[in-house]
Amino acid sequence: MPIYEYECAKCGERFELRRSLADKDSEIQCPGCGEKNPERVFSLFCTVGSSTGGSSGCAPAAST
Ligand SMILES: [Zn+2]
Repeated sequence: MPIYEYECAKCGERFELRRSLADKDSEIQCPGCGEKNPERVFSLFCTVGSSTGGSSGCAPAAST
């Protein structure tokens, strides 16, 4: 399932959402301030190998 990254234009909150095709029409809401329709951003770098050592992978940007 692809992970999309969004940035809220209102409060600057950045968050990621896993969205299946079934969810593509559902409303997105900023977890910080509740603003709807945050801007979609594309991660141009991967955090794999960073000091956090998390399990996050690189989600290739969709070429839609
Ligand atoms: Zn916000």
